[in-house]
Amino acid sequence: MPELPEVETVRRGLQPAMEGAKIVKAEARRKDLRFPFQKDFVARLEGQTVTGLGRRAKYLMADLTSGDVLLMHLGMSGSFRVQNDDGNTTPGQFHHPRSETRTHDHVVFHMSSGAAIVFNDPRRFGYMKVIARNALEDEPLLNGLGPEPLGNEFDAAMLARSCANKKTSLKAALLDQRVVAGLGNIYVCEALYRAHLSPRRLAAKLATKKAEPTDHARHLVNSIHSVLNQAIKAGGSSISDHRQTSGELGYFQHSFQVYDREGEKCQTAGCSGIVRRFTQNGRSTFWCPKCQK
Ligand SMILES: [Zn+2]
Repeated sequence: MPELPEVETVRRGLQPAMEGAKIVKAEARRKDLRFPFQKDFVARLEGQTVTGLGRRAKYLMADLTSGDVLLMHLGMSGSFRVQNDDGNTTPGQFHHPRSETRTHDHVVFHMSSGAAIVFNDPRRFGYMKVIARNALEDEPLLNGLGPEPLGNEFDAAMLARSCANKKTSLKAALLDQRVVAGLGNIYVCEALYRAHLSPRRLAAKLATKKAEPTDHARHLVNSIHSVLNQAIKAGGSSISDHRQTSGELGYFQHSFQVYDREGEKCQTAGCSGIVRRFTQNGRSTFWCPKCQK
């Protein structure tokens, strides 16, 4: 499943083709993706200019001149392709390869910029929905999302407050979208590894008795920031490095330090540990038992 850095990379890749351009024609080639398309989905898009393309957690949000917002989620296997005179670009290819099969092209936006924005999704867990901007607060898909991990709001004090009474593990707390929005399994493993904190540690230990942040909370927030920023930077470079005119997907393997490295030597300087994997809340956790305490 694409995680936040991948979605942000997709946003940056789509931005030049979408922002300031009008959706001349919109095609929904099926009745549904994960959910049925709204009956007026196409009608609310055609003729509208995209005034901005933003992101909230793992949602892409295109602002339209009508006052509507087009909400887009990649699901498990969704990807966007930008087709123009230069060929095809598929931004955001860093961990999971994307489908090349055109029969999975389910949505197409023909933009006044001359580009066609194609949404391909073999497993169809992705979704799109048009919502009035002034109704976003009541939107169930967005309700209850915690702060953006790279936003100003998210700091050690906030993380400590949210975790102060949590009886869960650190890993589970960071995957909880109400605590912080948009983090998934890969980047939680990576952030805990870089902060040298055990994924099994009790989340409440990030806070003092007065619910103030401990040094561990500060380290963890720094690790979350650095791992996400590095990944976004790497994803950004994949946009230009993997531009291919043949339509073949570029594939950029982001170098994770601990994720998917079971049995390998720990990369922490001076640590002789071996990366282990165990199942936690139904998902694989990768960690170094020696330097993550
Ligand atoms: Zn180690």
